[in-house]
Amino acid sequence: MKTKIQDKFKALFKEEGDFYMSSGRINLIGEHTDYNGGYVFPGAINFGIMAEIKPNGTDKVKVFSIDRDEYVEFYLTEESLPEQHWPKYIYGVCREILKRGGKVEGFNAVFAGDVPLGAGLSSSAALESTFAYALNEIFNGGSIDKFELARIGQSTEHNYCGVKCGIMDQFASLFGKEGSLIRLDCKTGEYKYFPFHPKGYRLVLIDTCVKHLLADSAYNKRRESCERAAEAIRKNHPEVEFLSDAKRVWLDEVRGEITEEDFIRAEYVIGEVQRVLDVCDALERDDYETVGEMMYQTHFGLSHLYEVSCEELDFLNKLARKCEVTGSRVMGGGFGGCTINLVKDELYDRFIETAVEKFKEQFGHEPKIYNVVISDGARKL
Ligand code: ADP
Ligand code: MG
Repeated sequence: MKTKIQDKFKALFKEEGDFYMSSGRINLIGEHTDYNGGYVFPGAINFGIMAEIKPNGTDKVKVFSIDRDEYVEFYLTEESLPEQHWPKYIYGVCREILKRGGKVEGFNAVFAGDVPLGAGLSSSAALESTFAYALNEIFNGGSIDKFELARIGQSTEHNYCGVKCGIMDQFASLFGKEGSLIRLDCKTGEYKYFPFHPKGYRLVLIDTCVKHLLADSAYNKRRESCERAAEAIRKNHPEVEFLSDAKRVWLDEVRGEITEEDFIRAEYVIGEVQRVLDVCDALERDDYETVGEMMYQTHFGLSHLYEVSCEELDFLNKLARKCEVTGSRVMGGGFGGCTINLVKDELYDRFIETAVEKFKEQFGHEPKIYNVVISDGARKL
């Protein structure tokens, strides 16, 4: 990837720049907890975006995307939003830095990546974080702190790409560290690194390559259920700001006051927040069997209580159990996308073979396989 970028940069701009990169991410556990003020538990992965960048002394940004095979120029002014999709991410990052009083001037860039697009590994956050990190180093002497860089990426999605995302993806991409997962408290922004060295296990994603249309409307309905449950609990326990603040017994107290549907949604969320804590404890003991069991419990909750799974995901999850995979669950919002699986080395080949074959038999197309390793996030090369 680096050589390709270097050759293109030289050919286009007749000079050399500096190299930066950032990563996609996985989330081991902690699903649908972010908007409930709970924990998520992501890590950066060995798939990323790499860019060569150099200031060009003008007020224009000149960027070439190797993967799109497309060259785009834009000014940094408010009215210069590029028409094409991919440059919006870069333009947005520039604008958001400027809005915060930071400095960005014209630059030349060539970039490429290997994060699969739209598979739930957050290629867009990898792209934003690469440029946010680089432009902070190049024009601001690294003075913008990394959490603010994550917010710059998030605001880019909100303001220029029409995606109302949380902070997890950009956070993981910027803060990621090899061999560590990061528990982020979505309410306070506090975070803590936990060791993740699954010796004898592999982490593999299986992409169903489907995306069911229900996702958006269902997401909003789930949020509303959670808000209603939190509101009911708050009457007895005013300290409950978000649903994640509630104890399980507090939910039981209001069972008669909310609908059964709102109850089971809340039951899932409160359980999931606890599972993140349990997984963190297990990791400190190097106990990957417990980690795996929690992943299965999360899948059960997402499928039967939160009801955001689908036939394809449930199929892969059941198959994982049958193949004695240590842990398996849907990753991301649901209704399609990937399962994340923690598999013993010696079971890996048979599991993948079986999953690909049986999935194709059942659904008519092969799933995609991504082997992931927890790696470093944003950095200068
Ligand atoms: P994801 O879940 O992977 O983040 P998104 O739809 O949020 O999916 O973001 C994908 C978009 O990010 C692409 O449409 C493209 O505009 C941009 N993008 C990601 N990776 C690349 C790349 N390697 N080259 C060019 N654009 C990219
Ligand atoms: Mg994205």
